[in-house]
This record gives sequence, C-alpha cells and structure tokens, in this order.
Amino acid sequence: MSTLDKNPIDSNRTSGENLSYWIASSKPIIFEKVDKSFQTDILIIGGGISGLTAAYCLLKAGHKITLVEDGFIGSGESGRTTAHITHALDDFYYELEKIFNEEKAALAANSHSAAIEWINKTIELEKIECNFKRVDGYLFLHATDTKETLDKEYAATKRAGLLTEMLSKVPAIESENGWCIKYPGQAQFHIMHYLKGLADAIVKMGGNIFTESKAEHINKNGAKVNEFDIAANHIIVATNTPVNDVLTMHTKQWPYRTYVIGAKIKKGKLPYSLWWDTGDHDSKWITQPYHYVRLEELDEEYDLLICGGEDHKTGQADDEDIPEEDRYTKLIGWTKKRFPAIEDIVYKWSGQVMEPVDSLGFIGKNPGDDNIYIITGDSGNGMTHGTLGGMIISDIITGKENQWMDLYSPSRITLTTTDDYLREVGNMTAQLVDWVSQGDIKDAEELKPGEGGVISSGLKKIAVYRDEHNCIHAHTAVCPHLGGILQWNNEEKSFDCPMHGSRFTTEGKVINGPAKGDLKKIEIKDEDEKATDLNK
Ligand SMILES: Cc1cc2nc3c(=O)[nH]c(=O)nc-3n(C[C@H](O)[C@H](O)[C@H](O)COP(=O)(O)OP(=O)(O)OC[C@H]3O[C@@H](n4cnc5c(N)ncnc54)[C@H](O)[C@@H]3O)c2cc1C
Repeated sequence: MSTLDKNPIDSNRTSGENLSYWIASSKPIIFEKVDKSFQTDILIIGGGISGLTAAYCLLKAGHKITLVEDGFIGSGESGRTTAHITHALDDFYYELEKIFNEEKAALAANSHSAAIEWINKTIELEKIECNFKRVDGYLFLHATDTKETLDKEYAATKRAGLLTEMLSKVPAIESENGWCIKYPGQAQFHIMHYLKGLADAIVKMGGNIFTESKAEHINKNGAKVNEFDIAANHIIVATNTPVNDVLTMHTKQWPYRTYVIGAKIKKGKLPYSLWWDTGDHDSKWITQPYHYVRLEELDEEYDLLICGGEDHKTGQADDEDIPEEDRYTKLIGWTKKRFPAIEDIVYKWSGQVMEPVDSLGFIGKNPGDDNIYIITGDSGNGMTHGTLGGMIISDIITGKENQWMDLYSPSRITLTTTDDYLREVGNMTAQLVDWVSQGDIKDAEELKPGEGGVISSGLKKIAVYRDEHNCIHAHTAVCPHLGGILQWNNEEKSFDCPMHGSRFTTEGKVINGPAKGDLKKIEIKDEDEKATDLNK
C-alpha cells in the first residue's frame, strides 16, 4: 500500500493532495448533510479531535449537541497528524517557566498528562480499536544544539512534576551518541480509528453529527450551515484556526507547514517509541523546526516508521531556498542516517500547525463573546491539546470548576513574549511586499499540467493552475481574509496564504481558515489586451 501516486485533491477527505497513512488506511467517516434549519443546545463546528472530544464530553455531562463538519470527520489537520500523544511539549518547560512561571509550567504538564489519561480511559471505556499503545518518548539533541538545553529541560520537567529520566544514550538510534531525556508513559494511536470510535460513541449517546456541512456567519445565535439556520445557545468553534474571528486570534498565533514521510521497516527492528530532537537552532524561523519520529503497525511483516519535520512558515518555503519537494528529500536523508534499516518510502504528506505566540494554546471563550468558544493554537501538541479543549469547554459550559481554564484563556495577555510577537508581526507584514513584487511566473504558458503559480498583471495578482487536461484555472491570488498574496504549494497542490495560513484548492475553494470564502474566479487578458477566458 502506498499513496505516492498522486490522487486528485478531494477536500472533503483531506486538506492536501498527498494522503496521510491514516486517511489512506481507513474508510471515510461520513454522516448526513445538514438540509434543513433547526435548533440545538450546543453547536460544535469542526470534526477533528477537538470538536469530537468536546461533543463527547458535553454529552457525558448531560448536554445536547450538534456537530457540523465541512468535509468528512478527520479531513482537517487531525487526519494529517503523526499522533504522538505526549506531555513533552514542543516549546519546552524551561521556556514556559520563563514566559509564565514555575507554577503555570507545572499546571501545563499536569493538564497534558491528564489528557493522555483521558484518552486512555475513553479508549478502554468505549472499546475503541485504534492500535493504542503506551510508549516511552525520548528527547535528544539536534546537531545544532548543546547539552545545556537538555539539562535545562530536564530540571524544568522535574520541577513540573514529570517522571523524566536523563539517559546517556538515545535508545534504538545508533548514530546518536549523546544524552537524551526519557518521558515514560506517553502514547500513540491510529488517529482515524480513534476518531471513528469517538464518533460512534457520540451517536450512541444521542449526539447529531453532520458532514459536508459548512458553517458560515457564525454569531451568538448560531450559524448558517449549507444555507440553513442552526440556532444554538452555545457555539464551539473547533476549526483548528478560528473561522469566526477576523483579527484578534490571528495576531496571537502563526501558521507553519510541517512535512512527514512513512517508510517501511521490518517488524522487530525498532521498539514502539516516540523520538524528538530539540530543534534547529540555526533556523531563521521563530518556531525552530524539530524532527519527530514514531512507529505504527503496517502489516504482518512490516511497521511504518513515520518521521516528520523540516517546517517553515506557511507559504514561505522558498525564503530558505528549499522548495516543498526538497523538504522531503532532506527529511528522507535525516531519517536514513538515523534509522538505516528503513526500506521503501511509501507515504509522504504535509500539514499545518498553529504556533501560539506564548507557547500555550487557546481554549475557552472567544475574546469579547459570552457564548462562543474556541480551541486553537495547539502547535505540535494537538492530540493532547485538542482533548483538553473538549474537557475544559465542557466544564465551562456545565459551570464546573476547571483548574486549567485560566491557563489557556484566549483573552490572556502575556507581556514576556513581546520580541517574538514583534518578529512574527514583522514577518506577516513583510508578506504584503508581494503586492508590488513580480509573481513567481510570468505567463500561464510556463506551467506544465499539474502546476500552478502566481502571475502579476499590473497591480493584479492571479493564481493560475494548469490541470491534467491542460485547462487553465485562474482566480484572484489575494486572500479574502486580510489581503495576503497567495503562494503556490506544489506538493499539496494548493494556494497558501503566508500571512495567516488560509489555503485554497486549485478550484479556488477554501480548505483552511481564517478565510471564510472561496477565491473569486477571474478572466485574465493576454499581452495584446485580448480578453481571454482561460477556462475555455
Ligand atoms: C504533520 C503534522 C503532524 C502532527 N503531529 C502531531 C503529533 O504527533 N502530536 C500531536 O499532539 N499533534 C500533532 N499535530 C497537531 C495536531 O494534529 C493538530 O493540532 C490537531 O489535529 C488539530 O485538531 P483540531 O480538531 O483542532 O483541528 P482539525 O483536525 O483541523 O479539525 C478542524 C475541522 O474543522 C473543519 N472546518 C473548518 N472550517 C469549517 C466550517 N466553516 N464549517 C464546518 N467545519 C469546518 C475542518 O474541515 C476540519 O476537519 C500534527 C500536525 C501536523 C499537521
């Protein structure tokens, strides 16, 4: 089984052309579409791990819910994850201590540990068959890093109450001679099988789930879904990047693209474990890309070694002169060096993560709203963060005390991150320079079938794509969210906004917020000013 042969992008199933192993190895999870107006108590928008966990927790607490999903269940970033379930946080506990304090770093550790236990218990309770395993995790040094990072992090994890150990050798990676921190009792699963189990349990408890049902005009009274009105007392926006808000939350987090490969490896060559390095300290990005590795059962003879990394800010791969396809080449090189027993590379895919400015995600009431809630900013810890999102919002709506509610409040102001904030804002506004720069191609003639690009025509920017039948599709390249100039992503065959991470298919259909609507189709004129509808 492999998905390296290209499939036409089906945005109901996934948000890019490359299929993840999880999506390729499971049946699409489909429900009815919304086809009439109705009233519900709690409307949940988004069918990833955050939305489904919220639905499950709220039903358990005795509420009535309706969940609507634009594509199919898991068609967003949940279906493109690598599903490490861990309390080893991307941004490190010693950084959390600096940004917040020791007490809050410990609270964060406690919350992610609780999310691991919640997932474990729910899988047992609902008898979800999803290859769930408790495994150990190992954090080792990136080639650009020094042992001081591990020493600082080890001390901080201890202060945070975690049962970590410092080891003098990285288990199972021969070429890594240095130290590592061991995190016992982490976990892993097959995300799509887990989501299927949650969805089944939700339906069993009387919850309503709809797929291919897009929510628009989200407000305190509910939302329009497929043109029908759903009235609700509470609205939870679990769309990974919030689609209810134009600006506030999008100045607190930034989109990054991250890459994954899946390689066959003979069973028994490696133990089921999680491995991460400490990140590239020479990287130009504020969120330093790191490598993340795990094993999944593939068939009777083979496991799949799933390795991710080589991140960059969305739409800005070329700023490092490393286009998307070369990111996979780098990732394969890195993996082969450390895991020489791997055989064929049978999967590759990429996805988007939202990096919060102060290293903690956002869960709770949307700033300025009383009955609209968001779950976002989960960086590479979305399995536990999305789970926490469901747990915390369920408690808020139920009126139950929750010890983590303030920590993750979307309205918090964190002054210690001003430098990083200003650098990310600088990067974001720098993208507006694309308004006056040349497009990346001069003429649609340059495009081969299956390729896209952005053309400048005076001050106009046009996103063009030549399909497999040689037809050109042309849309405005201006993001309808806040006017960023879209960039062509040749690997996932999408147009991506470098400002806030909105993404569009080659047909101009929005596949990632914060943009709410599709790209306008346009006609472009040829050099002789002859009007040409390029779709003909
Ligand atoms: C390559 C990669 C590797 C990762 N690895 C890990 C890992 O190992 N461990 C970890 O903890 N995290 C990891 N993450 C992060 C994690 O996968 C995500 O943070 C998490 O899946 C987000 O879940 P979600 O439910 O919040 O969002 P999503 O899964 O994106 O769900 C949001 C859903 O909302 C739907 N939607 C959007 N707009 C609308 C609308 N208007 N109406 C209706 N529905 C709408 C979308 O279609 C989507 O299905 C990884 C992410 C990537 C990309």
